[in-house]
Amino acid sequence: TDPIPMTPQEQPEDADRALRPQTLEDFTGQADARANLRVFIESARRRGEAMDHTLFYGPPGLGKTTLAQIVSRELGVNFRMTSGPVLAKAGDLAAILTNLDARDVLFIDEIHRLNPVVEEILYPAMEDFELDLVIGEGPAARTVRIDLQPFTLVGATTRLGLLTTPLRDRFGIPTRLEFYTVDELVKIVERAAKMLGAPATPGGAREIASRARGTPRIAGRLLRRVVDFAIVEGDGTVTQELADRALTRLSVDDLGLDGADRRYLRLLADNYGGGPVGVETIAAALSEARDAIEEVIEPFLLQQGLIARTPRGRMLAHKAWTHLGLAPPRRPDQ
Ligand code: ADP
Repeated sequence: TDPIPMTPQEQPEDADRALRPQTLEDFTGQADARANLRVFIESARRRGEAMDHTLFYGPPGLGKTTLAQIVSRELGVNFRMTSGPVLAKAGDLAAILTNLDARDVLFIDEIHRLNPVVEEILYPAMEDFELDLVIGEGPAARTVRIDLQPFTLVGATTRLGLLTTPLRDRFGIPTRLEFYTVDELVKIVERAAKMLGAPATPGGAREIASRARGTPRIAGRLLRRVVDFAIVEGDGTVTQELADRALTRLSVDDLGLDGADRRYLRLLADNYGGGPVGVETIAAALSEARDAIEEVIEPFLLQQGLIARTPRGRMLAHKAWTHLGLAPPRRPDQ
């Protein structure tokens, strides 16, 4: 049969899926999170109970979805997936919850974007495995209580701060995911390159890993582009020279910053003398959503010490001036 044509948007997602590690053993990095999860999974298995509710938080592309799938596989239960914005009505969540088998994993991505009405019914579901549904309207309305199978809710969010306190408190296992080290990303790139049938030399893997913003999803995306260049302009092997050339052509610099990152830094340097600048102002000037700035662009710049957050706004750090090839301004207090 003919393959189903893929749109350009679908393709990276599909490729992502193929590269996903399937077991905790195969999952590289996040050593602390992995060690703890191993214990909680094993304990739940021995007790024959649902694992406690787990919250993964951290920037996009660090492996929240992947870990949730691994947890369900290691527990030997079904994996159900939905997301905060998709659950518009209480009934949407009720339909999913009442269809879970005992000890299943329900994964809710972007859980900070749950409708408050939906969130309300999640509380008793998480705490007592009970669902309180209102049937009918007005004076005829009544509440029915439905018993649920015990289940594990795995929530994922890029913004822990946007979770309401009652929701956050109901997760027994809050787990923060960190940016990956270059060495960890080297392993991830080497494994993915093998799976793509385009072997990477150690230098080639390292070049991609060190320019991937500490993020496996970005490493995977850069690798696929470099493989394109390796096939067309090389002999199919991902070498350092080829990776460097390809990434430079894709405007990924030696720190791994892309066009959006550099536009952010340049804005602060060129228009605001290095800041402080409020995030709303930055968002407006860059025509980006404030969420995208705070969730996608800033975490890595902060982690790299390129910017600092102050009560009065964002400021360029010394390293950013040097990286941009500019002289930092002299400040009166320096
Ligand atoms: P998130 O849910 O945090 O946005 P995902 O779990 O969707 O991130 O991971 C994004 C991509 O990165 C996936 O293709 C996944 O295969 C890959 N990935 C994430 N973490 C790892 C890891 N530790 N090892 C290998 N690949 C990983």
